[in-house]
Amino acid sequence: MPPSPLRPSACPSLLRIVHARDGGICRVKLAGGVLPAQQAEALADAAQRYSGGVLEATNRANLQVRGIGAEAPALQQALLAAGLGSAHPAGDDVRNLMLSPLAGRCPAQALDVRPLAAQLLRVLEGEPRYHGLSAKFAVQLDGGEALACLDHPHDLWLTPLWWEGQWQFGLGLASSVAGGQCVAVLAPAQALAGLLAVLERFLALAGTEQSRMRQLLGAVGLEAFMAPLGLRRIAQPVPPRPTAAALGIHPQAEPGRVAVGAQFVLGRFRASQLQALAGLARRLGSGVLHFTPWQGLLLPDVAAPQAGEAQAALRELGLLTDPQAPLAALVACSGSEGCAKAQADTKADAHHLATLLAPARAVHLSGCPRACAGAHGAPYTLLAVAPGRYDLFIRDAAHAGLGRLRARELTLQAAATLLNGLPRSDTR
Ligand code: SF4
Repeated sequence: MPPSPLRPSACPSLLRIVHARDGGICRVKLAGGVLPAQQAEALADAAQRYSGGVLEATNRANLQVRGIGAEAPALQQALLAAGLGSAHPAGDDVRNLMLSPLAGRCPAQALDVRPLAAQLLRVLEGEPRYHGLSAKFAVQLDGGEALACLDHPHDLWLTPLWWEGQWQFGLGLASSVAGGQCVAVLAPAQALAGLLAVLERFLALAGTEQSRMRQLLGAVGLEAFMAPLGLRRIAQPVPPRPTAAALGIHPQAEPGRVAVGAQFVLGRFRASQLQALAGLARRLGSGVLHFTPWQGLLLPDVAAPQAGEAQAALRELGLLTDPQAPLAALVACSGSEGCAKAQADTKADAHHLATLLAPARAVHLSGCPRACAGAHGAPYTLLAVAPGRYDLFIRDAAHAGLGRLRARELTLQAAATLLNGLPRSDTR
């Protein structure tokens, strides 16, 4: 029997089903978050046939099927047949490439990163020497779009930089674009070669304890890492840049076209919703769905006069389109229904909390200190300590992790009363 192309990892992938309390989890990585309607239908059909039909949008613009049992091989086969896997089986883990969901369509962007993203993905998937990267190793290609997730830490990122009279790319390592520092400048035509040189240097130096760039830089130092690469070094902080809220109607560069934002309730949805979304993309868009890092999607290429119709249709399908909806500001991990580590049913509690909270109070409910769902650093975290009981943390630059402990063992009612009493400036 040939050796398995998969390395041991706790992260689910298409070929690596990870067991949870509610069954197996299979993660489908979407190139740039893009899911054509035909693949959406195939995915929905497979989830319906071979699992309980529950899906989840992740905070890296991927999807996962939950509740998988004995029919895992049939599900995997169906997903591969739909073209949802990697070109090379061992390349599935190295496809952590984040783009703006508006990449290539945003009127504000400085550079269209889609061609570079496609080239990079082809190389990462196809060339075995990159398959040694960890399943968590992540790259971001920022084109300067108005709608962008800039607060996620990435091992490696590019952002547009106005340098010597033209748009070039600033390269950053082991940080987020927001608040990050460019350590080299790359001409767009050299960007792929520069990225690959950095990746090869990482693979050459990283030991078994260094699966992420920050671990390696902590061991060898930035200067020693960069010196042999021959890249043009700079030390340029990324200028602050306002970004748009994901929910709403986003203008596109093409006149008369817009992208309509929506969010899944607490990141979960049914296969039947995905089927219907594919139909909606065909009817009102260009037959494609763009998943976002905020556990939602954009319906791009909608004729501007039909944006309201698209929003109404998304609401009818059970998605949120109003940023003021209390549930739109809540994030909850799988909780005790899906995870053995959880101290409380965070999903059910989030639904209850939404009925008690004032609009737009951004709160993250976490079943345990691992805080899997808290990638965006919500201003408030409720950390479960027992069923229906939470400690409240307030994000604060002086306190690492979840922030400053504000109150212990709150009921949901007590947490809502406390949160509703905080000044608006303290909420997102
Ligand atoms: S945060 Fe904890 S309880 Fe929630 S899904 Fe992650 S490991 Fe499970």
